[in-house]
Amino acid sequence: MGIKTAPAITPSNPHICIIGSLNIDFVTSTPRCPGPGETLTATSLTVTAGGKGGNQAVAAGRASFISKEEHDVSVSMIGAVGADDVYYTSLLKPGLENSGVSTTDIGESTEAQTGSASIIVEDAAGGENRILVVPGANHAGIMNDVTQIVAAVKSQKTSPAVVVLQGEIPRKTTLGLLEYFNGGLAAKDRAHVVFNPAPVFPEGISLAALKNTSVLIMNETEAVQMSRSIAGLPVSEGQSTELNYLQPEDLAPRFHEVAHVQIVLITLGAKGVYFSTRSGRAGSVEGVKVAKVVDTTAAGDTFVGYFSTALARFIATGAALEAFDREIEDAVKKANAAAAKCVQRRGAMQSIPFAYDME
Ligand code: ATP
Repeated sequence: MGIKTAPAITPSNPHICIIGSLNIDFVTSTPRCPGPGETLTATSLTVTAGGKGGNQAVAAGRASFISKEEHDVSVSMIGAVGADDVYYTSLLKPGLENSGVSTTDIGESTEAQTGSASIIVEDAAGGENRILVVPGANHAGIMNDVTQIVAAVKSQKTSPAVVVLQGEIPRKTTLGLLEYFNGGLAAKDRAHVVFNPAPVFPEGISLAALKNTSVLIMNETEAVQMSRSIAGLPVSEGQSTELNYLQPEDLAPRFHEVAHVQIVLITLGAKGVYFSTRSGRAGSVEGVKVAKVVDTTAAGDTFVGYFSTALARFIATGAALEAFDREIEDAVKKANAAAAKCVQRRGAMQSIPFAYDME
């Protein structure tokens, strides 16, 4: 396992700031689901650390470990948990810090508990999941306040080269942060935003916020939902439109043209990843064939974290984002390989590989 405490943000290293959700996952395995009013003895309960923000921070942190002792990118997490939460102290905090993630800016909410996901895995239904998410602290206090979050980012030792956002904190906050870091509100504070709209907000996303996003990473369903959103259509209406049937190579250009997104990455599960840039580079990277898929939880988050670390290293060279075209395929391949390793292990955070284990 990596280091025991999170390294401080090292001024000489590029810095990635992940702003997002932290959850505790309670996974109960049962032969079958109880009916209304019924009590049933289940098989097992596993309590693990998760949440898209936390998973992506751990993935970015682990991607930066070039050896067991050395890491070349600083990663910090901004999020919120319930006050005095034992699961934060015993699971989430060590999970982040053992991966080199600074937890200094994780706030404690007195209004809400740490976010949770109660997951029932029904053996009789072939391991099918039923999931209940309580956003808790992810939707309380500071997570509703763009100004406070921006102030927390500004108080950090170095400005982030890359800011990573997802869809598990309030929509209004996400839109405000996108607009801020994409240069809409304060050009001087612009950072390269990696946005993973998962889940896609049912109300969609405003073009003003999405405009000039550096990297948009979506799975196939999210790519369709987001393209509906930028076309001004309801995100997930059953009504059939040509957008529902488009292939990744037809969907991606819409984000470049309409929203001026520089890099679009569409993850395709076992099939791999489609990539496309506004400056004209595009292609596919095949999925890695694995002997046995154990659990795909956090595969997408592993991809996001690894790609963000590659991007931060490149930005630190001082070159323009367009020049990343030369390295994009290599960055996608490495993130794809890390995500394939993740699917061969059980759990969320714990299934994410360290870079020194990737060779
Ligand atoms: P999840 O929600 O399960 O974390 P996702 O829906 O966000 O994932 P996917 O497109 O399903 O995203 O998977 C993300 C990436 O994980 C893929 O692009 C690929 O690199 C890797 N991956 C997923 N499933 C497999 C698999 N069966 N075999 C190899 N790699 C996989």
